[in-house]
Amino acid sequence: MHANDRRPPKPGFATRAIHAGTDGSPDDPHGALTPPVHMTSTFVFDRVAEGAARFAGEQPGHVYSRISNPTVDLLERRLASLEGGTAALATASGMGAITSLLWTLLSPGDEILADEALYGCTFAFLHHGLARFGVHIRHADFSEPQRVADAIGPATRVVYFETPANPTMRLVDIEAVAGAAHARGAAVVVDNTYATPVLTRPLEHGADFVVHSATKYLGGHGDLVAGAVIGPEEGIHRVRMEGLKDLTGAVMAPLTAHLVMRGLKTLELRMERHCRSAASIAAWLERQPGVASVHYPGLPSFPQRALAARQMHDFGGMIAFELDGGLEAGVRFMDSLGLIRRAVSLGDAESLIQHPASMTHSTMTPEERARHGIAEGLIRLSVGLETVEDLVGDLERALRLAHIRVA
Ligand SMILES: *Cc1c(COP(=O)(O)O)cnc(C)c1O
Repeated sequence: MHANDRRPPKPGFATRAIHAGTDGSPDDPHGALTPPVHMTSTFVFDRVAEGAARFAGEQPGHVYSRISNPTVDLLERRLASLEGGTAALATASGMGAITSLLWTLLSPGDEILADEALYGCTFAFLHHGLARFGVHIRHADFSEPQRVADAIGPATRVVYFETPANPTMRLVDIEAVAGAAHARGAAVVVDNTYATPVLTRPLEHGADFVVHSATKYLGGHGDLVAGAVIGPEEGIHRVRMEGLKDLTGAVMAPLTAHLVMRGLKTLELRMERHCRSAASIAAWLERQPGVASVHYPGLPSFPQRALAARQMHDFGGMIAFELDGGLEAGVRFMDSLGLIRRAVSLGDAESLIQHPASMTHSTMTPEERARHGIAEGLIRLSVGLETVEDLVGDLERALRLAHIRVA
């Protein structure tokens, strides 16, 4: 009996995060449990005719690692399985994924309609990158699906958003927006970095492509920069052969693919802890009299709580909040933290805190930030995997040191 026949017929998420993409037998002559890391730039052809057949796409097999590599390929099959797509493309960074995809889908004269709340470098790529090459950039408030429907024009090729959005935590109803976009022939792209496929699988709600910064939860250990695009086989093939191979060259290194796969093995477990700790920290923050507002999809006070419950399996590890006293109080507070590290990035074992207006979203003008709902004093916390009582203790100490009222 082949190993494949003894495997569970419908393996669960954690099983796929560990095994998907292999047929159950080791891809290694020594039978190593861990797949080998194929550190090679190129692949040898037996004969000229074999090389020609591979270039023509008539014979399967690798040619050159800017196009594909066996270790990266295994990660791609695993990510496709976790997101419920048929294919995936791994890239050197999240921005490599976003740029490779959008440069494939858009041409001069086309329009992209994007949510108002976006990751800072995505916003910069649209306005300082794509716009220079004749692509029209348009924004709408995606929390109201009707506004998306109203804003889609005849030139709109792509509808782009994050849910939850970085850093405001606002959610978008994927199904409603996808319905409006598809009715007008536009492709739907969702940045699923915040939710991860453990919490939300946008393709199941009608999205055409999912992009990830695998630097964050998928890698999960703060030791790499990586990205991915997941979608239909034909679309992903186009992104690989146009956007990645010829336009950005943002290929993932085989060692990075190995490290992302190591992270994926514990993704579901880690997300459970991130969610549990973030839920209790968000509730604790909300009880502090000196905390002006807390944005977390799991809080009863969260305005889109019903959508969160419908679209997300749990509410994630990210919290945004503001203190009485705005930016100045926020800086005093962040500078007083001892355990929680001041750093951008998110989704790591270490809890990280940052100030969007001066850090991740400094690529926007203050007017743009105001228009996109990012208050100057907003603080973004990525709740890590430390003992939750230690995190609450650190937050409480820092609030006191910064003279902010605590309960
Ligand atoms: C970090 C991030 C990106 C960019 O990813 P990199 O891996 O840093 O290039 C894109 N979108 C979101 C939501 C992010 O948090």
